Amino acid sequence: MPTNIIDGKEISFQIRENIKLEVEELIEQGITPGLAVVLIGNNPASRTYVTNKQKSCKAMGMHGVLIEFPETISEEALLNKIRELNTDETIHGILVQLPLPKHISDAKVIEAITPEKDVDGFHPINVGKMMIGQDAFLPCTPYGIMEMLRMKGIEVEGKHVVIIGRSNIVGKPAGQLFLKENATVTYCHSKTKNLPRITHQADIIVAAIGRAKFIKDEYVKDGAIVIDVGMNKDEDGKLCGDVDFESVKQKASYITPVPGGVGPMTITMLLQNTLKSAKDVLKHR
Ligand code: NAP
Repeated sequence: MPTNIIDGKEISFQIRENIKLEVEELIEQGITPGLAVVLIGNNPASRTYVTNKQKSCKAMGMHGVLIEFPETISEEALLNKIRELNTDETIHGILVQLPLPKHISDAKVIEAITPEKDVDGFHPINVGKMMIGQDAFLPCTPYGIMEMLRMKGIEVEGKHVVIIGRSNIVGKPAGQLFLKENATVTYCHSKTKNLPRITHQADIIVAAIGRAKFIKDEYVKDGAIVIDVGMNKDEDGKLCGDVDFESVKQKASYITPVPGGVGPMTITMLLQNTLKSAKDVLKHR
């Protein structure tokens, strides 16, 4: 069976073209969507992510603000900055880049962001609303996966989706979004017994594990759709996913590559969420 490679860059490009147009329209109505990204410390990976988010934001015609603090900033000072951004009318989305230094509580920081500007979709209010199917900011990576499938015309209803990984930012919410689209969802994690037996029953596999090339072809049934969320380094230091792309692509009907699959979609959905937030402001004017 010929495998279709799902091109996340191309799909992102199409969504971003639409975002650009909507931003132009909003600007004409007096609102420039604004995203504030807060970076603490000097983690090189975090800096790369933040720089990419800033660049993408500017390319859309949005107002992007980068706020940097040293590793030593106190929790209270950071919370105060977030409270200030909550009331800043030029800012529609607030994102605090994780991980945070050990002396700062992730939960406190996430909960300090007003749910109306929580464009990462991590605030418990947004998580709860997503769970019960209410309008909410969806977490960007799972949202990106769903948009990717939708834009490829891949039907989800009735499919058995096996998600490997149960983190709050990827695995768990991804399962909820598939459930909402009437899929049958199975979650697997590090304590799951006989993983290949379960993944072999999947019509769609979502690998969000964080282990290089962990999913081999024997985990995958013929014709399955394989979504690779992983971002790891291989033995040569090159970026690779959780899926052994070369062997699995022989069996899958569709597969996402790394790089160029889920990754670009994540930032695109952050932009989409920031746009949504700005449009909500206009609606309530
Ligand atoms: P995480 O919080 O470390 O969660 C990893 C999950 O994988 C956990 O639920 C863990 O199970 C499970 N797991 C670990 N080893 C396993 C094994 N041997 N068998 C089955 N399950 C296993 O990671 P995350 O934040 O969800 O990220 C996952 C991957 O996606 C990472 O590579 C990350 O860099 C990448 N990522 C990519 C994007 C993107 O935009 N492309 C965005 C976010 C994350 P337990 O719960 O039992 O420990």
